[in-house]
Amino acid sequence: MMLAKRGWNVTVAERHAQVSYADPDRSYVYAIDGRGRVFTDAYGLTPKLAEAGVDTKAVEVNRVFPNGKVVNARQVIKDEARIVYWLPRMNFVRLLEYRVKEQDMAPYITLLTNTEASEIERLPTNSSSSSSAAQQVQVTLRNTVTGNTQRFVPKLLLGCDGMNSLVRQSMQHWAAADSSSSSRFSMAEYPSLSTDLRFKVLQLPPNPAMKDGTVLRNPSFCLLAGQKSKSIGGPPLRLGLLPIKDESVGRTANLITLPDHPVWGVSDAAKLYKVFEEAFPQADWRALVPEPVMAKFAASQGGQFPAPQHSRGMALLVAPESPPGPAAAAPDAAAVKGTGVLLLGDAAHCFPPDLGQGVNSALEDVCVLQRELDAAGDDLAQALPAFEQQRQPDSEALAKLVQTGYPLQYNQYPLLRAVWSARFIAHMLVHKLLPFAISPPLFLMIQDPSRRYSRVLAATEHSKRVLAGLAVLLVGAVAVLLQKLLPKLLKVFAAGSA
Ligand SMILES: Cc1cc2nc3c(=O)[nH]c(=O)nc-3n(C[C@H](O)[C@H](O)[C@H](O)COP(=O)(O)OP(=O)(O)OC[C@H]3O[C@@H](n4cnc5c(N)ncnc54)[C@H](O)[C@@H]3O)c2cc1C
Repeated sequence: MMLAKRGWNVTVAERHAQVSYADPDRSYVYAIDGRGRVFTDAYGLTPKLAEAGVDTKAVEVNRVFPNGKVVNARQVIKDEARIVYWLPRMNFVRLLEYRVKEQDMAPYITLLTNTEASEIERLPTNSSSSSSAAQQVQVTLRNTVTGNTQRFVPKLLLGCDGMNSLVRQSMQHWAAADSSSSSRFSMAEYPSLSTDLRFKVLQLPPNPAMKDGTVLRNPSFCLLAGQKSKSIGGPPLRLGLLPIKDESVGRTANLITLPDHPVWGVSDAAKLYKVFEEAFPQADWRALVPEPVMAKFAASQGGQFPAPQHSRGMALLVAPESPPGPAAAAPDAAAVKGTGVLLLGDAAHCFPPDLGQGVNSALEDVCVLQRELDAAGDDLAQALPAFEQQRQPDSEALAKLVQTGYPLQYNQYPLLRAVWSARFIAHMLVHKLLPFAISPPLFLMIQDPSRRYSRVLAATEHSKRVLAGLAVLLVGAVAVLLQKLLPKLLKVFAAGSA
């Protein structure tokens, strides 16, 4: 959309039959925050987002316990930057798809579905086959239905192909071939307590009701707290239901837990009904989930959270000048100079969804690229290195922020979660007392588009140091106090016992 608005001709290759394909394991609910809204504002999409999404000016969370008890917590959000719109992935992609088909974009964009990028090569334009003479990038697109292939030679190849990006792997391969170092486009990974958690998405009816008649209305956040399942054991399970606006469509429940939980070994519907009846006695599962849906859910492999990671490089200038010849010149606006490859979204950085930044950071990538293309007048020789210089520190900072932002929200380690929550409350309190010395917890800062991820990381590191200093001071003060008081207290006890 951003490139089409500049008058470039854009070809999008999607391997699925539809861009907004329905995949039960990817039917999670997105939170589009202040960062994502910078993009939706620029393309006139925010009113549609507001119409299609649940906004969080007032958040109501309903916890339903195994005994049927319901606890409602309502929190009013006063900070505009923290208002997010919740909507299912498919609905968000559909919003973008409709926009692409509007008059101002449609002539510039060709959407090829059932089309997979199967090979990406660098081509030399001169007779030498040495890779350093490469001037062009050639993409082979294979139709996944007919098997037919076609070749493209774009001026700019955008790798928006997700975490297992073929584009990034090709760049890594070229870097290794050029300099015997494969690290330039390799992924830097960081450990996190939510990495490797497995998840599956269960389809529920609209506004599902519990046994006692409590209705989990689609637009509310709900949490079904579970208990141990007698038949399989393992820690208690939980189901999280994120809000969706439309009350006439089914909603989804996320089952997220440790990878070695015995629930992942249950692959038939009858056994899974039993496990759910034991773990979540507050609901009548046979009435709520039809057998074919439960069978599909049981058989699905679901997904697994990746480690927070980012590519060590985001942009590659293949040639500073556009090569002569119709193949390279035809697809894009004449003003575009140079040939390059660029990574955006999960191809460049991906992580567990703890902070809800995946889509938002991807949309922000696009806004940064737009700024750099504006500044460079569509000269890729300037824009690509400038983009990488701007965005790489934020990409790295974001992966690091996800490590500590909110990894224990899935209750995978209840004790650690209690410690994390206590620390979070202490941080909030000290921030309220000393706002000039301590920034808010990063979970609150990150949705504000005016703060770069690298600044959020710097502020977080600073706050950690100040908090650690305050903790040392506090412990020291208590020790001094005890040292002074202890002899007196001992005397009082001694006198008392005499
Ligand atoms: C459970 C869960 C919850 C999440 N919740 C949030 C949230 O609340 N907020 C948020 O911001 N993010 C969230 N995310 C993260 C978010 O889904 C990703 O960050 C986002 O989808 C990245 O978008 P992308 O376009 O870069 O990649 P993808 O969404 O992975 O899209 C890549 C596309 O490229 C296609 N493709 C891949 N390879 C090829 C090829 N060789 N040829 C042709 N097509 C190809 C794929 O079919 C796919 O359609 C969540 C993720 C998970 C797992």
